[in-house]
Amino acid sequence: MAITNPWVECFFVGALQMRCSVVTDRETGDTVIIDGGSEPQRLINWIDRFEGRGPDWSNGPSTSEEAKLEGIPNRSVVALVNTHAHFDHSGHIPDLLLHYPVKWYLHEDDTYLQTLAQSSARRWGFNAPTPAVADEPLVPLTTMEFGTLPFSILHTPGHTLGGCCLNLLVEGGPNHLFVGDTLFAGSVGRTDLPDTGGDFDVLASSIHTQLWPLEADTIVYPGHGPLTTIGHERATNPFVGEGAGPGGMYGRGKYA
Ligand SMILES: [Zn+2]
Ligand SMILES: [Zn+2]
Repeated sequence: MAITNPWVECFFVGALQMRCSVVTDRETGDTVIIDGGSEPQRLINWIDRFEGRGPDWSNGPSTSEEAKLEGIPNRSVVALVNTHAHFDHSGHIPDLLLHYPVKWYLHEDDTYLQTLAQSSARRWGFNAPTPAVADEPLVPLTTMEFGTLPFSILHTPGHTLGGCCLNLLVEGGPNHLFVGDTLFAGSVGRTDLPDTGGDFDVLASSIHTQLWPLEADTIVYPGHGPLTTIGHERATNPFVGEGAGPGGMYGRGKYA
């Protein structure tokens, strides 16, 4: 269960510039939207028609002609999947579900947090629709196939109770790991946010036990900020890397 040569696009959406990743199997056109938290119309226009602003980062075609030349079938969104339920990651899932009648997957330990998506957005001064309710739970320590896209599910609590990292399994590697706000390039997720279950020791333990054993060349897609790799963070991350010592620097990351 692995795919070859996935097409990944990243959109920094909303005021918190959250990374929404759109992952497509070039062989089948099956597409998964990870953390479709904001700017739903921008995502829809691009995924369906290559119209509008498009992604901020991509390893694939940027027009329908290029996609045809590459032999990629029309894209079909097969699932919405979330790393966690903070509103910047999940607030506009209901708008995407209106357009794509597919299932939405979230770890069940973030069910309560998800009920707060609208009120949290308002507290930050943003609008969001009535929160979505997840259709299916992410099941840790299994490989879940969304259409033809296989993701190994890693439960990594600490930033939120139900936070998960989603490892797209690629034939011959490198794998692509979507970590939400668990890990950043040079940082880790905040553990001080209200109603969330944040705990630095739990977060560090999640990273040490679930992420550091992964292949060094695994490409890490954080929920905010630049891409990195497991090998680079394991060696250099000042909070949880090999040189961090017990407890890391501060027990507090910089992004929500
Ligand atoms: Zn978060
Ligand atoms: Zn975030």
